[in-house]
Amino acid sequence: MIPVTTFQGKQVALFGLGGSGLATAQALVAGGAKVTAWDDNPDSVAKAIAEGVGTGDLRQADWSAFSAFVLSPGVPLTHPKPHWTVDLAHAAGVEIIGDVELFVRERRAHAPDCAFIAITGTNGKSTTTALIAHILKTSGRDTQLGGNIGTAVLTLDPPRSGRFYVVECSSYQIDLAPTINPSAGILLNLTPDHLDRHGTMQHYADIKERLVAASEVAVVGVDDSFSSLIADRVERAGTKVVRISRHHVLADGLYAEGSRIVRALSGATSLFADLDGIQTLRGGHNAQNAAAAIAACLAVGVSPADIVKGLSSFPGLKHRMQPVGRKGQVVFVNDSKATNADAAAPALSSYERIYWIAGGVPKEGGITTLSSFFPKIAKAYLIGEAAPAFAATLGEAVPFEISGTLEHAVAHAAADASKDEAGPSAVMLSPACASFDQYKNFEVRGDAFVGHVAAIDGVTMLI
Ligand code: ADP
Repeated sequence: MIPVTTFQGKQVALFGLGGSGLATAQALVAGGAKVTAWDDNPDSVAKAIAEGVGTGDLRQADWSAFSAFVLSPGVPLTHPKPHWTVDLAHAAGVEIIGDVELFVRERRAHAPDCAFIAITGTNGKSTTTALIAHILKTSGRDTQLGGNIGTAVLTLDPPRSGRFYVVECSSYQIDLAPTINPSAGILLNLTPDHLDRHGTMQHYADIKERLVAASEVAVVGVDDSFSSLIADRVERAGTKVVRISRHHVLADGLYAEGSRIVRALSGATSLFADLDGIQTLRGGHNAQNAAAAIAACLAVGVSPADIVKGLSSFPGLKHRMQPVGRKGQVVFVNDSKATNADAAAPALSSYERIYWIAGGVPKEGGITTLSSFFPKIAKAYLIGEAAPAFAATLGEAVPFEISGTLEHAVAHAAADASKDEAGPSAVMLSPACASFDQYKNFEVRGDAFVGHVAAIDGVTMLI
C-alpha cells in the first residue's frame, strides 16, 4: 500500500467506497489523514467501518473542516449532473481529487525521479498498460502495474527511486487528477465513448489531452483527428511528442506497416520490431498498442533489444483476443470482452478463416456494422437472446446455426473446424453482446469458454 502522507493530520472527505474507494480510504488513514468516508450503499459503509475507516453522512458534515474531497471515479463529477457531494464541495471551496492525484502527490513528495508511465485512450488501454509492464519486468526493472486496469493505484508499493509505475487512467481518473505529471504519457486514440458522463466529444477529448499535455514525453496516436490535433497543440506548447500511427507513414515517430513497426527519425527509417508470429499482438489495433508501448519504454530508458524481447514474450490479457487452445490447425480464441460490434471488429479483422461464436444480450444496431467481415466467417454459432436477430442479419451471407448455449457452440464449432481442409482457422468467442442473459459478466463467460475448450478431445491448452 502507498500511505498517503500528504494529508497527514488533515481532515479529508471521501465518497464512493466500492471499487478503489475503500483502498483509497485505507491509504489515507495509513498516512495519518482523518477520513470521513461515505457511500449510498450501507453495506459498503459497514465494510469500511469494519476496516477501521472513519465514516459519516457527508450531507450532515461540516465541509469547511475538510482539506480535500476524494471522489471515486465512478461518481459523476460533471455529467449528466454533478453528484450532490460535488455540489457541497464546490459550495465550501474544497478541492475535488481522486486516487491517481493522491498517487502523483506521493510520487512528487518522496521519489519524483521514479518513472511513471500513464496510459489513456478510448481503446487499447489495458493491453498497452499490460504490455509496457511486461517489457519493464522482463528487462529486470522493479515494476508496479495498476490504476483503471483493476488494481487500485494506492494498493501498489510506495514510490522509491528506481521503481517504475505503469498506470492505466480512465478519463474520469484524469478529470480528478489536476496535477498529473507522468514521465511518459500515452494517448492511444479517441472515439466517442462515455459521452453520457462527459457531455460532448470535445469535453471528453479535453480531459484526455490533460494527461499528455502534462507529460515529460507525450506519446500520441495520430490516426484520429482529435488526437492528431492534440499532438500538434501539445508539441507547440513545448512538450516532446512521439507520434504513433497504424495507418500512415510518419517522418518522425513509430508507425505500423502491417505487422512491422517502423521507427522514423527525421525522415530516416529503420525496422524496430516485427509482430508477425506474436499471437497475442495480432491485428492493426495491437500494432498501435505495441508502437505506443515501444515509444514509452524508449522514453524511460529501456534498450531496443530489451523491448523486442518483451514484445515477443507478451502473454496477452485474458478475454481480449486471447489464444487459449490449439488442436491441429485450429486455434481457440477467447475475445469475451467484445461486448458490442465495434469491440468485435478487431478480432474478426485479425483472423482469415473464422468459426464465430456470437450472441448474448445484443446492443443497438446488432452486428450490421460487421458485414465486411462476413466473407471470412466459415460458419457462425449463435447463442443467447441475440440469436434470432443475428441470424436475420447473417441471412444468406454466412452459414449459421442457432447453438443456444456456449457449450454447444464450442463443441459444434470445434468439430466443424477440425474437418476444415481450407487451412488454419480460428474458433473464436467474440460475442458482440453483453453476457447478462447467460453469465454474470464477460469474465465468467470467457472462463466458461476456456472450460469448454479444455474439454475438447485432443486440444492443447495454451494458458
Ligand atoms: P481498454 O482497456 O481501453 O478497454 P483493452 O486493451 O482492454 O482496451 O481492449 C479491449 C478491446 O478493444 C480489445 O479486445 C479490442 O477489441 C479493442 N482494442 C484494443 N486495442 C485497440 C486499439 N488500439 N484500437 C482499437 N481497438 C482496440
